Parts: sequence; C-alpha cells; structure tokens
Amino acid sequence: MIQSFTDDTLHVKITGVEFDDETLKKLKGGKLKLSKILNLKKKKQVCQIAPNKRSHFVIHCTAGNMPDSEIKDLINHKIRSKAHVYVKKDGSIIRIWPFTEKYVWATKLETYTKSFRGQMFHVEVNYREPDVPTEEQYLTLADLYIEASNIEDCWPIIVPHIEIDRGIPNGHNDPTDFDYNYFYTVLKEKGVPIDIVPKFDHNRYWGDKKYKIPYDTDKNSWPPVLSGNPHQ
Ligand SMILES: [Zn+2]
Repeated sequence: MIQSFTDDTLHVKITGVEFDDETLKKLKGGKLKLSKILNLKKKKQVCQIAPNKRSHFVIHCTAGNMPDSEIKDLINHKIRSKAHVYVKKDGSIIRIWPFTEKYVWATKLETYTKSFRGQMFHVEVNYREPDVPTEEQYLTLADLYIEASNIEDCWPIIVPHIEIDRGIPNGHNDPTDFDYNYFYTVLKEKGVPIDIVPKFDHNRYWGDKKYKIPYDTDKNSWPPVLSGNPHQ
C-alpha cells in the first residue's frame, strides 16, 4: 500500500509508508498531523530581544553548597528575587518557580532596573570554589536549557550572571570556573544547534586570569556583550 500526504504546516511529503487503518482514518479526516507521527518540529530561531520576552538563559552558581532545606525555604517563602531552579551536585533539581513565570529576577541589573525583569531564565548550579560543576550538573543544565527553549519556542542566548551585572557596583561574578566550551559540547550532543545560538565566549572568562574578576571600570551593556576582553 502506498500513501501520500502533505502536511500543511510543514510541507512535508511522505510516500511509501504504511499506516494502520485507524491512523489512516485520522490523517484523512485531518484529526492527526503527519508531523506528530513523524515527531517533526518547526525549526526554532534564536530568541528575539524585546521587553517582556525571554531572550537570555542566565547561568549562576550559588557560591555555596546550599542544603536542600535552605533551597526549599525559597519555595516556602515564595521568593522571587532568586533563580527559577537550583541544580544539585547529583544533577537533580529543586524548582522554585516554573520557567513560565516571568516575574522572577536574580541579578543586580534586574534589581535596579525593573524593566529587565521577565527577559531571563535563571538557573543556579549549587557549588562553590574551588569546586566546579559536576558532570551531572552540566547534563541537567543542558536539559533545562532545552526546556527553556520550549517555553518561548526559540533558542535563548546563553550568558553567565557575571556578564549581566558587568559594570554594576557590587555586581556578582558567578558562576566561578564554569567550563563553557564543555557545556556547549553537551548541548550539541543533546541536539541543540549550538553553532547558531549566540553564547558567552569561553575565552571572555578564561582568556586571561584578569577576566574572572569584574573591574569597577567595566561597562554594563544590554544586551550583554558575549566575547572579547571584558575590561575594554
Ligand atoms: Zn548569580
């Protein structure tokens, strides 16, 4: 049996595939999309930067090893001035707010300038110097990035907290010693088209030992600068 269908949304044509009678009936009646069977999705673009639209995926570290009870307290007190979700050392998560919740902020930039709230997804990785993220934390962070991308149906720009707060007095410098290139490899392995995603350049943190420390003379910028010498 040869069948031919065209999916209106995706302009996909398929021939030579056999469907069972039930599926065939649904397809002909328009009750089932071919894309659903084939598990195809429209190609996502990079998120646009606009007020009240999420465009940035912000990576943090707690600079501590917070016990579960302390993280869960944030849920109990409905704290909005912290991250959406915390990633524990074993890769499991504690979610304070769903990513769909826009009224959550976790940087000095958003604290001081309210109009920036609602443009970022915030994820805390629970570790502190001299520790670095665990393999499990990188994997979970990648899953959370993909989850965030599904909220706005676009690929968010990847940026660390240090860059959002750049040039702001008492701005934060986290996450410490995060391996950006490794994280991008993990994302690629999970199917993210990382080459098209605007992302913080590994060398803007690792290129020189002075890059890890924010300077008072650094300039703040929105959208955040993603590459080059941070002190220029
Ligand atoms: Zn932070």
